[in-house]
Parts: sequence; structure tokens; C-alpha cells
Amino acid sequence: MVGAGPAGALCACSLARAGLSVLLLEKTHFPREKPCGGGLTPKAAALLPFSFQSVVEGEVKRAILCLPGVEALEINWDRPVCFLVRREILDTHLAEQARQAGAFLREGEEVVRIEETGEAVTVTTAGGASYRAQLVIGADGALSRVARLVGRPYPRHFALAAALIPPPAWAEKRDTILIDLEALPYGYGWVFPKIDHLNAGVGSFAATRELRFYWENFLRRNGLARPFRLRAHPLALAGKETELGRGRVMLLGDAAGLVDPLTGEGLYAAFRSAELAARAILEKGVGERAVSRYRELVKASLLREYHFAYRLARLFYRFLPLIARYFSSRPEKIRYFWEFLFFGGYAELFRRVGARYWEKLLCGYLN
Ligand SMILES: Cc1cc2nc3c(=O)[nH]c(=O)nc-3n(C[C@H](O)[C@H](O)[C@H](O)COP(=O)(O)OP(=O)(O)OC[C@H]3O[C@@H](n4cnc5c(N)ncnc54)[C@H](O)[C@@H]3O)c2cc1C
Repeated sequence: MVGAGPAGALCACSLARAGLSVLLLEKTHFPREKPCGGGLTPKAAALLPFSFQSVVEGEVKRAILCLPGVEALEINWDRPVCFLVRREILDTHLAEQARQAGAFLREGEEVVRIEETGEAVTVTTAGGASYRAQLVIGADGALSRVARLVGRPYPRHFALAAALIPPPAWAEKRDTILIDLEALPYGYGWVFPKIDHLNAGVGSFAATRELRFYWENFLRRNGLARPFRLRAHPLALAGKETELGRGRVMLLGDAAGLVDPLTGEGLYAAFRSAELAARAILEKGVGERAVSRYRELVKASLLREYHFAYRLARLFYRFLPLIARYFSSRPEKIRYFWEFLFFGGYAELFRRVGARYWEKLLCGYLN
């Protein structure tokens, strides 16, 4: 397994628990940072086969939603609709779970070369060590080296996140998040409160070079102070460039390009792809047949959902002012939509509203 982020650690944990021998190579040392909002949805959290409560810094029960041309809306829930975590803490917890399950975790080992030779794959690290495996799983994130090997190009979309000292107005709002759909075209800005800071960022679903400009405006408009840590990172959105692997190489999470094209959520797909990869390997054995099975499983579930999400995203961001006007007088509808996205996912939305109806409507509209 190359990369011990959420996808790699969870997959390694499931395989080690099932008795397989798993080597988990991680280029950094935990705890390490990963630019992220740290919003963990209930549907993502439900995929964790162990407790994660110890790493939760906040439970979201209120959202302030800024939409173009209308007053900001406040939406309230009586149960948490998102958990707020810090990635350095969550990821350390996940890697520790994999280690406790029996995976061999080697930190400070950066994979620099992968060669497929007949019945095995050889992986070489920056320190000069080399390992032979029957299967290599690339879970090394959006800038994955393993993905380059199987031909996936670098992502074209980016998000930018920073830690801020909370202004007094935010001190009492640990259960409140801000989502600002006016912050930039084809994207949004967010503020997620953590125990000792605010995480504020912007993400774009259109390739833009002006992310920093939008982000500075977003901070100014919301009366937020200057950051003490600012990091940009690619968003490996699901779409035409998604690549799940071939031969004896599998790709998970960001390495495969599985970030939700409507919301930018990536932890759900990291966990789900990890779960499907482990299932494919346990069904088909460690080898090429598992890679084919994994592709089938992801295509039938995650990619089917994201096919729909991609079309929905194009409509949503394009017609946002109209949608904003519709929602502004019907906040209960936003609450309903939000719950689908964060609890059930698109599959649930599909089931409820009738897949055929939506596909026909959306495809007809776009083509
Ligand atoms: C600014 C920003 C905000 C985001 N906010 C959210 C959010 O709020 N909620 C959400 O669900 N998603 C969010 N996402 C997406 C989410 O962060 C990713 O989808 C998620 O981290 C993917 O997990 P992963 O395990 O696939 O990859 P990663 O988390 O990137 O983990 C990859 C691991 O591989 C290691 N690695 C890399 N290269 C090598 C190598 N050559 N050898 C060995 N190890 C290597 C890395 O050090 C890392 O530990 C955000 C993304 C960005 C950019």
C-alpha cells in the first residue's frame, strides 16, 4: 500500500484484519498535515469499522448558507449533520488502527519507482529500499506517483485552506459552519470551527488561477482575520480522468480521482474505495483478478453516483442565482437536500426521486 492517508490506512486495516500481509509505506511521519476542511459527513463516518469519536472537535447542527442575490439563510438540525476533525489527528488515528490490525506501517518511506514484472510489482523508495508485492495499491493522494504509472494525469482543480485565529463573533459557534456560494464562480467558500482555530478555505470546480484572490475576498467579506497557515492542494475530482488501476496496480481515493464533483467531499470516496478494494481482494485473491473486480464494484456504485453528481453540479453552479431564489423562500427544501448529500448520498436521492426521471431530465437538458 503506497500512502497511509484515509484510503490507504482503512484498506490496510481491513486486509490486515482478514489475515493478509500488508506493507503500508508512508512518505511522511504522523502526525502530518493535509490541507483539508476536515468535514466528515455521517455517510463517510458510517464506513469506519472502529470508533472515531475521540478525534471529533465539533458536531455541526447549524449552517449559515450564503447564496447569490438573496439574504443569508440559517439552517438548523436537531442532530449532527457533519463532524469536524483535524486531519493530522484523524489520519494518525486511522494509521494507528491499521497498525494495530497487523499492517506493517513504515513511515518516512517515499515510493519513487514502481515496476510491474510478470507475477509481481517492485516498489523502490527514496532511501533505496525495494519491495516485491503481488499487488500494489496506490493510495498516495491527488499527486499520486502510482497514478502517473497507470496514466492518470495531474488534477486541474484546486482548493485552498487556511487556519485562522477565531474572531470573537465565532468564539461561541462551535456547532455552526458557514458555506458561501457567492465566494467564487463554480465553487464555494467555507468556515469550519475547530477547537483552537477556524478552518477557512475556497474550492473551485472550474480550473481557475485566481483562487487566492477569491479566498482573500471571501475572508474580507466575512470579517475574518489573516491566516497563520495557508495551504493549497489539488482536488482530484471524479470525472473522465478517473482511473481505478490496471494489471497488478489498484488506485484508491484521491489517487484514483474520486472527489465528489458537486461538493468537493473526498473522505467518503476514500473510505468507500478502500472498502471496495478490500472486498475485491478478499473475493478474488491478491492479483489481477482483484483489480478487475474492484473496477466493477466502483463503477457500479461510486462512479454511478458521481456520474449523476457531475451533471447535477453543472446545472447547480450554472443556474445558481435561479436556484438561490427558489431556495430562499423554502429553507426546509435545502435541509432536505443537504441531508441526502451528507447522510444517504446520491444513491438515496436517486431512489427517492426516481433515477430514470432525473437522468432523462438532466441529460436532455445538457445535451
Ligand atoms: C483544501 C481542501 C479541503 C478539503 N476539505 C474536505 C472536507 O472538508 N471533507 C472531505 O470529505 N474532503 C475534503 N477534501 C478532500 C480530501 O482531503 C481528500 O479527498 C482526502 O484526503 C483523500 O484521502 P486519500 O487517502 O485518498 O489521500 P491523502 O489524504 O492525500 O493521503 C495520501 C497519503 O499518501 C502519502 N504519500 C503521497 N505520496 C507518497 C509516496 N510517493 N510514497 C509514500 N506515501 C506517499 C501522503 O503523505 C498521504 O499520507 C478537501 C481537499 C482539499 C484540497
